[in-house]
Amino acid sequence: MSTTNHSMETRCVHAGEPVPRYAGAVSLPIFQSSTFENEEGCAYDDLKYIRLNNTPNHKALHEKLAALENTEAALVTASGMAAISTALLSVLKSGDHFLAQSRLYGGTFSFVAEDLPRWGIEVSWIDGDDPASWQSALRPNTKAIYVEAMTNPLLEVMDLEAAVGFARENALVSLIDSTFTTPFNFKPAEMGFDLILHSATKYLNGHSDIVAGVIAGRSDLIKTVLHTLNHLGGSLDPHAAFLFHRGLKTLAVRMERHNANGLALARWLAHSGRCKKIYYPGIETHASHERARRYFSGYSGMLAFEPKGGAEVARAFIEKVRLPIIAPSLGGVETLVTRPAFTSHAGLTPEQREAQGITDSLIRVSVGIESVDDLIADFYQALPL
Ligand SMILES: *Cc1c(COP(=O)(O)O)cnc(C)c1O
Repeated sequence: MSTTNHSMETRCVHAGEPVPRYAGAVSLPIFQSSTFENEEGCAYDDLKYIRLNNTPNHKALHEKLAALENTEAALVTASGMAAISTALLSVLKSGDHFLAQSRLYGGTFSFVAEDLPRWGIEVSWIDGDDPASWQSALRPNTKAIYVEAMTNPLLEVMDLEAAVGFARENALVSLIDSTFTTPFNFKPAEMGFDLILHSATKYLNGHSDIVAGVIAGRSDLIKTVLHTLNHLGGSLDPHAAFLFHRGLKTLAVRMERHNANGLALARWLAHSGRCKKIYYPGIETHASHERARRYFSGYSGMLAFEPKGGAEVARAFIEKVRLPIIAPSLGGVETLVTRPAFTSHAGLTPEQREAQGITDSLIRVSVGIESVDDLIADFYQALPL
């Protein structure tokens, strides 16, 4: 169903729903069939097959996601990393060079630093806050620029407008991982990004029960990406597609609550007298607050803080806190807590972590959709004054 005149909330529910509905089903059924009967005169490219990303479950999601991101087209993939690797391998070929923001999600960083060079694709790391320095990193074979909407775990927001401008001036394809913002808070295509990537495992699905990814953008680019995706085979299974579809319908109401809870918990932490540092782009003291305020309509449920008293207090907090689950990943309805120095960033040396501001006492919170009063009461009992 087309929802071009409708708001985000309505698009989440109605965009991409099949017309007419299959057998009248209000909820799009799972088409658990690898292959489909040939239709009369069907061209090879139109054969329906799960790996070719064209079953009814795929098509509905593609349309819904394009409507949410305000792009011409979108694709779902078997994971966020499938989206990222497929997009990069579509845009770049052996002999190419690209620019990437220096603080990327760990899996992306390893893929770019360790795997891409084996296929003759080279990267230069850029400082997202210093656009003047990017020019000197350009080479005649530079083809793309890759950035993230917000970094993990300190929630820094780089100069995204400069990235788009720089890409235009130098005929680069601009790619952005928008996992932390979601189209509810930020639509990168409206700023001018060419390809928008998500780990749908996080907020888009929102229930911590599948891994999935998204690639959205102009139809000509998405056509090229689909060709690569069909061959690499990182296609989403219909059952996961069904769950993802169900999760997406509530994206707007979930994000509203994540945004509100994130802001309320961050403000409470900031005023509690119990924290040495607090990282949430929605509060005025955050280094990226001005940019986040201009670019985004909400700040998500991601925050990080250092309690007063150092690593020992951080360790004790993890033991005392009751509602949050101590687990990696993010963006689900339940609040999750981790200590990045011992999880996502454990692979770095202490010096590398220090340089990035990731101390042993840093705690990252993915704030869920529980009552924020209950969360605050729990943090209150778990953090000493
Ligand atoms: C989790 C995550 C990914 C990877 O997604 P998977 O679904 O685990 O493959 C990529 N980018 C960001 C920002 C993430 O948080």
